[in-house]
Amino acid sequence: MPAGEFELIERHLRGLGAARGDVVLGIGDDAALLAPPPGQQLAAAADTLVAGVHFPESLAAADVGHRVLAVNLSDLAAMGAEPAWALLTLTLPRPDEDWLAAFAAGFGALARRFDTALVGGDTTAGPLTATVAITGFVPAGAALTRAGARPGDAVWVSGWPGEAAAGLALLQGRLDAPAAVRERLVERFRRPEPRVGLGRALRGIATACIDVSDGLAGDLAKLCTASGTGADLVAAALPLSADLAACAGEAGARRLLLGGGDDYELLFTAPADADARVAAAAGPLGVARIGTITAAAGVALDGAPLPRELVRGYDHFR
Ligand code: ADP
Ligand code: MG
Repeated sequence: MPAGEFELIERHLRGLGAARGDVVLGIGDDAALLAPPPGQQLAAAADTLVAGVHFPESLAAADVGHRVLAVNLSDLAAMGAEPAWALLTLTLPRPDEDWLAAFAAGFGALARRFDTALVGGDTTAGPLTATVAITGFVPAGAALTRAGARPGDAVWVSGWPGEAAAGLALLQGRLDAPAAVRERLVERFRRPEPRVGLGRALRGIATACIDVSDGLAGDLAKLCTASGTGADLVAAALPLSADLAACAGEAGARRLLLGGGDDYELLFTAPADADARVAAAAGPLGVARIGTITAAAGVALDGAPLPRELVRGYDHFR
């Protein structure tokens, strides 16, 4: 007989993630009881992954488990918050224990790395969908928001944006690359690394911050709209990865860098004279200073407004 909902939760989900002293009562009752530390604000976010929409149906269960938590951790990173507690809502087509065990392994490994406890959720039957709601802490008044950029601030981005979109295109056969390049880029899509440490280190330095989920240009436009500014990017300063250029060509690579989603890098602004502080906050993680915040609205590249379809964000299915 296939396992019921109760057995699935007991076997695979109870005890997932880090053990935390601030979880008064975790999985098993009608609600979790949690003890937030005094003096901190709670940062809360939720993100859903739908099979066939946010990831290919063929993606391994462990990757789905990693991704659904990583995208939520990334939202907290963008606020400068430290993750603490997660709720997981799973909709499964059937009670597939192997799938759930692998999902739990991917989810649990990342949760432990980021000291996040799974404290509850819901499990139902239906088309494969995973939703995480996450809560973290940030000292009162210290959160990074999208709204604080000022004209003259420098625009920064971490890592190598565009690589995850190239990885998805490789998975879907829309792009081709030598085996080693392919493996590295696909990994960037399968296993995004939430920049929690960077977000926390940017408290008091960054004036605004957003995580790159829908494409650098589109997410920069959101940050600018929230701040009441525009931005001018410098083409020569964009961090074009060699692997990206090797498989997409220079123009294609730039399109992926500006328009591709799924990177979960941090895009942030800082005062123009804060380069040394930004570099110290980033540590070994590469960050690139890619442009300047402007008083005039809109996102431009070398002074020319970016094409609308780039700013709207990358569409996986077109
Ligand atoms: P209820 O019917 O009261 O909502 P459930 O039977 O759905 O309770 O869940 C029992 C317990 O298991 C609850 O504590 C709930 O938070 C937890 N739970 C259910 N599904 C999940 C899941 N996917 N991940 C983590 N915890 C879960
Ligand atoms: Mg109940």
